[in-house]
Amino acid sequence: MITLLGLSLNELQDLCLQEGFPKFTAKQLCDWIYIKHVRDFDAMTNLSLKTRARLKEIATSGLFAPIEGHCSVDGTKKYLFASGDSYIESVYIPADDRGTLCVSCQRGCKMGCRFCVTGQQGFHGSLTAGEILNQIFSVPESEAITNVVFMGMGEPLDNFEAVKRAIEVMTSEWGPAWSPHRITVSTVGITPVLCRLLDECQCHVAVSLHNAFANERMAMMPMQKAYPIADIVALLKRYNWYGQRRISFEYTMFRGVNDDLNHAAEIVKLLKGLKCRVNLIRFHASPDVPYKTSDERTMTAFRDYLDSHGVTCTIRASRGEDIMAACGLLAGKKQ
Ligand code: SF4
Repeated sequence: MITLLGLSLNELQDLCLQEGFPKFTAKQLCDWIYIKHVRDFDAMTNLSLKTRARLKEIATSGLFAPIEGHCSVDGTKKYLFASGDSYIESVYIPADDRGTLCVSCQRGCKMGCRFCVTGQQGFHGSLTAGEILNQIFSVPESEAITNVVFMGMGEPLDNFEAVKRAIEVMTSEWGPAWSPHRITVSTVGITPVLCRLLDECQCHVAVSLHNAFANERMAMMPMQKAYPIADIVALLKRYNWYGQRRISFEYTMFRGVNDDLNHAAEIVKLLKGLKCRVNLIRFHASPDVPYKTSDERTMTAFRDYLDSHGVTCTIRASRGEDIMAACGLLAGKKQ
């Protein structure tokens, strides 16, 4: 069976040609799947009955609903999708002027960040572009989504072809025609693939920093050994940032680990000369990882230090604590 979700207009045209369908059927399929999010071929009423019957024999739309949904008191919603023999999560975060969907790109993750529940679960496979797009098109709030962030389970640059294809579909004129600036890819920074992301996609980029001291970062994030943060920042400083494209650094604050002002000073040193923003993130404590959440006063002092030393910094509002919005917790529990 061919999965249509994730195919480009050209690929759909090839399929139509091969099956003897009229060429415009490809554009109609794009409208049904990418714009209207219709799952069943029977509901695609402008296709001939013969075309629909043949499509049912050879293909599936690739759209499928989440198997579970959990709603937080603050309106954040977490969805669980079945994928292979495991599960992945998507989180919808509503705000006054936007609705952000945080999507997963892998089942588990190879990166092994010590503070991350997904990292502790190991790697169970990469998602296809269709499985990534399905999260965007199949959550009940699909029509309200204004932004997508690749900050769920998995490392996007370890599944770059699928992530890139999903971004291409979202930003193409035969698809939803989003501006790439509505999409942010978050990464630990696999440097050679980061170069490709910067060259081949125009989306915003968020780098997982979490510690500016190389030796301490290595203890938290084993990928620091292969891809040191100094090299990542050097690459970003060489890159020509233009237009509305943004680079940010994600910094989850852990009590007594990375939250004193020496750490803030090291961030100032590291990021000097780079136009960027640092997002401080409250850690969602979990029994499975040995880190604790920094307190409010420490986070505020850290932010004020960065701001007063020329690094734009915000404390990200904590959302969905009561439904375990931290990456991988729900999928791990279900597993
Ligand atoms: Fe993977 Fe991201 Fe978790 Fe690190 S934080 S283990 S990159 S999912």
